[in-house]
Amino acid sequence: MRVTTVFNRILGLPGASVCSVELSTDGLVLGLRRRRGRRYRCECGDSTRARYDLSRRRWRHLDFGSTKVWMEADIARITCPACGIRTETVPWARPGARHTRDFQDVIGWLAQRMDKTSVARLLRCSWEAVDRAVRMLVADHLPTDRLDGLYRIGVDEISYKRGHHYLTIVCDHDTGRVVWVAKDRTRKAFEDFFTALGPDRSEQLAAITMDGSPIYMPVAADNAPQATVCLDPFHVIKWANEALDKARQANPAVPPTPATPAKRSGPATVAQVNAPAKAWRRLKTALRSGAENLTDERRALINALRRHNYQLFRAWTLKEQLRDLYRIPPEQARRYLRRWITRAIRSKIPAMQQLATRLTKYFHQTVAAVELGLSNSRAEGINSKIRVIQRRGYGHPGPDSLTAMIYLCLGGITLNLPTQT
Ligand SMILES: [Zn+2]
Repeated sequence: MRVTTVFNRILGLPGASVCSVELSTDGLVLGLRRRRGRRYRCECGDSTRARYDLSRRRWRHLDFGSTKVWMEADIARITCPACGIRTETVPWARPGARHTRDFQDVIGWLAQRMDKTSVARLLRCSWEAVDRAVRMLVADHLPTDRLDGLYRIGVDEISYKRGHHYLTIVCDHDTGRVVWVAKDRTRKAFEDFFTALGPDRSEQLAAITMDGSPIYMPVAADNAPQATVCLDPFHVIKWANEALDKARQANPAVPPTPATPAKRSGPATVAQVNAPAKAWRRLKTALRSGAENLTDERRALINALRRHNYQLFRAWTLKEQLRDLYRIPPEQARRYLRRWITRAIRSKIPAMQQLATRLTKYFHQTVAAVELGLSNSRAEGINSKIRVIQRRGYGHPGPDSLTAMIYLCLGGITLNLPTQT
């Protein structure tokens, strides 16, 4: 069998055949021949027989073992009736790409699972090539019907670049997907979402969760007055944890240690000097974890708190009781929250009293979230996934990169590997 035939069988490219195989210093270069007298296709979908000129171009393809593979073909500039002078599109690569579709699909599949720097290293391409491929894949694969059938949505802001910049994110609570990402946390960012949604689809919205932000609330009232505004459970629990942190700082008694090691004479060791700081950190972690996730050691710490620092124990109990709001039968929510607020005010813990005041202000929105079955898990899921993307990105260079990654990982994009058929 001829070597070109072997490659034709392996690659199976539509509309092109391998006519030469050359092993150069760059790697394996496969020369491609296109069908004579074909119509040249434009990116817009139009096609023409008239070409302007020809030039040779190379596309990086998936490696054969440790050898880099390139595809080389003549590509025409055409005069498209609609767009003017453009470069023709080829079946094996996306318009403007310098990597084949297969190569970019592998990039995208990996970028959904690992950081871009590792993807670039594994595939031996630049970080920029990974970034570009992610954007092209999102443009290609983001579901166009993602704004259809929205019923319960959530709007939230996320910060990047150490909290100096923000993105507005709209998610679908029923599918757990991100459906809209906009720059900044402004009224306009959220208004643009409603403009894209249009009046008909806006009317279908039953609930919008948010963090009680004065930016998004009026926009929701203007554009979807029928939708119930709910306080995002994720934020309520976040506030409770912050209040608990404040209560801990206001109670600077030495944290209890369940098992105190026997004191030894002589100069203090580094471990002994650092012990209080370490104990504080352990306590902070224990206070933050949910009661159901406490390890034996942490549970012992909380139990010790009950004896040594009752006020802080009380604050922890209030936090846990507030978490239960999202687990009880919805019809009990109103009464449960009212009683919780009374307890928090009577606790005489300033941070918890402040939280109670805040929840009194947003009483109806908080209860509405429970009554409409918007549990915490999904919103928290999206939030923590975004945090993972941000951490993996080591500081995304700009909003566009981050936006593309959020859509790639959370926008409902399914990518198949070239090896999957
Ligand atoms: Zn065109």
